[in-house]
Amino acid sequence: MDPEDEIYRRIIMAGKGFKDADNQAPLYYRTTEEMLEEFTYLGKEKAIEVVITNTNKIADMIEKISPVRPDKCPPVIEDSDKTLREICYNKAHSMYGPNLPKQVEERLEHELHSIITNGFAVMYIIAQKLVWKSNEDGYLVGSRGSVGSSFVATMAGITEVNPLSAHYYCTNCFYSDFESEEVRKYAGSSGCDMPDKNCPVCGQPLSKDGHDIPFETFLGFNGDKEPDIDLNFSGEYQSKAHDYTEVIFGEGHTFRAGTIGTLADKTAYGYVLKYNEERGKHKRRAEIDRIASGCVGVRRTTGQHPGGIIVLPHGEKIYSFTPVQRPANDMTTKTITTHFDYHSIDHNLLKLDILGHDDPTMIRMLEDLTGLDAQTIRLDDQKVLSLFDNLSALRIKPEDISGCDLGCLGIPEFGTDFVMQMLRDTKPKSFSDLVRISGLSHGTDVWLNNAQTLIAEGKCTLSTAICTRDDIMTYLINKGVDSGHSFKIMESVRKGKGLTPEMEEEMLASDVPEWYIWSCKRIKYMFPKAHAAAYVMMAFRIAYFKVYYPLAYYAAYFSIRASAFNYELMCLGRERLERYMADYKRRSNELTKKEQDVLKDMRIVQEMYARGFDFMPIDIYKAKAHHFQIVDEKRLMPSLSTIDGLGDKAADAVVEAIADGPFLSRDDFRSRTKVSSTVVDLMADLGLLGDLPISNQISLMDFLK
Ligand SMILES: [Zn+2]
Repeated sequence: MDPEDEIYRRIIMAGKGFKDADNQAPLYYRTTEEMLEEFTYLGKEKAIEVVITNTNKIADMIEKISPVRPDKCPPVIEDSDKTLREICYNKAHSMYGPNLPKQVEERLEHELHSIITNGFAVMYIIAQKLVWKSNEDGYLVGSRGSVGSSFVATMAGITEVNPLSAHYYCTNCFYSDFESEEVRKYAGSSGCDMPDKNCPVCGQPLSKDGHDIPFETFLGFNGDKEPDIDLNFSGEYQSKAHDYTEVIFGEGHTFRAGTIGTLADKTAYGYVLKYNEERGKHKRRAEIDRIASGCVGVRRTTGQHPGGIIVLPHGEKIYSFTPVQRPANDMTTKTITTHFDYHSIDHNLLKLDILGHDDPTMIRMLEDLTGLDAQTIRLDDQKVLSLFDNLSALRIKPEDISGCDLGCLGIPEFGTDFVMQMLRDTKPKSFSDLVRISGLSHGTDVWLNNAQTLIAEGKCTLSTAICTRDDIMTYLINKGVDSGHSFKIMESVRKGKGLTPEMEEEMLASDVPEWYIWSCKRIKYMFPKAHAAAYVMMAFRIAYFKVYYPLAYYAAYFSIRASAFNYELMCLGRERLERYMADYKRRSNELTKKEQDVLKDMRIVQEMYARGFDFMPIDIYKAKAHHFQIVDEKRLMPSLSTIDGLGDKAADAVVEAIADGPFLSRDDFRSRTKVSSTVVDLMADLGLLGDLPISNQISLMDFLK
């Protein structure tokens, strides 16, 4: 803007490696007087014409335009409204019988009305098509965000979370119980926590369901909150799901959501330091900060959203919304992204979030290894629940696993030190408790400096603390606060905006306790309950395998979740592992990021050894490239990719080479697999190449002898 601002451009160009960064043209925004000054050589009159008259003339010729279109252009799928209604009612009748319980019918009608009148049915149908396709291909899909608050989403198969209140239902005679006194005791909790019961009509065991989540978290009270359906597909399946959007909408109608990478604080600071250092200049800290802050946020590169797909409706041209490009100037990629950041156009065009996640991949591998359908796993299994409190189900002691007293190492979202401390503080007893803890652990300033203190001081308990967004709205409505206001308060708190004086006043007038208001004011970000419930369902299933199918669990964990598994450090026996662990722990303050990951994986391996299981040495002819295999009742065969330095591609190459027959020598192995000689030497040291001679010639000599 001003002449002195050129320093920022200078710094950024220097940071980008431009040699001529110090030769800056005087590029800045000139005032009218400065412009007239620049043009004095034309004479006064001509200068005024050029600087003032003509520029105004041009401006007058241009109508007011916005770089992005203002209108909303959702894709159209014929009869979405009708199809959605049909799918939901078919599913509801298959679960709850020909005469739907009134809670089911009312919720369905209420939601369908809201969804259809606001034009969101098409979003549901798209999500439904994607999820059904993935399920058909053998992969569960996890739901993210608040979509599990929608019973229509449940009935359309988009989410596994059933948001109705806790209830029993009979799949045999269609008896149901939503309102008996014993069921109502579970208000706010999950139906799976209720005791088992047989159908009073036909005697069959009843099914239990419901997580008690209000629909309003998803669409707002007037159905006017812009909904987002975010789905977690298996990482292995994500690209297929992306391709499938082209099948649904037609070629050329889907684009990856583009992002704009800007200069981050640290990078900017680094640029300034380097610039001064290279020129032998010394600047005060405050001056460096000032210049760095002027550089922050400048566009640096373009990229793509990890799962965002932008949908272009038929009959429209993408160029009327945004230019398109290949990301990061990479002309070789097939990916086409929107040039505008998707936030700038998501009011026009539908964006689908099709993300990749490890949980569905884990579940698929566990199902393949055990033949058990993960969806049949009960969510009230006591042994599984005990993992979150003690080690009894694993039949080991804390001293066996470096003092850890819980069984949830490696359970998604529950295996970190932060969450394990939360488990010790709160002692969960049920699925609902785990959902609360998941809410607490995913929020910002919801647990630390907040619920943790309140629980320790005895002001609230795990079941009364604010754990998820939904808790606030449900609680306030129950206290008698107007439902629309309750929703607004929830939205304000979950976004970290705290409470306005009017909100506080209204809450006090409804007898909301001081601690509750205090807690609301501290919260910076909160998880929706539906998301917590979806995560805990996946985690619980994985935990079930950990208890009952330990080798399958460890095989799947090491194949999919482990990020730094190392054959040499971990697979050569418990004693050796523990020696390495002791060394890592001694250096715990100076571990690199990679070493921290190694230590994390070591803890799981230690637990596996403690439970009496072991690894078999890798047999290069039998090991798989990336997946561990169960060899017998006690042992796993690690994958080839666990050998340090042997990358994913090299592991694949080994497997491919084996198809052409056995290796004759180490040289033969190296030339056929393209594995580096360092790795070949390591493999030989580890005894993985058996008695292969060094080269083919020696084997010929051996033969002659
Ligand atoms: Zn029955």
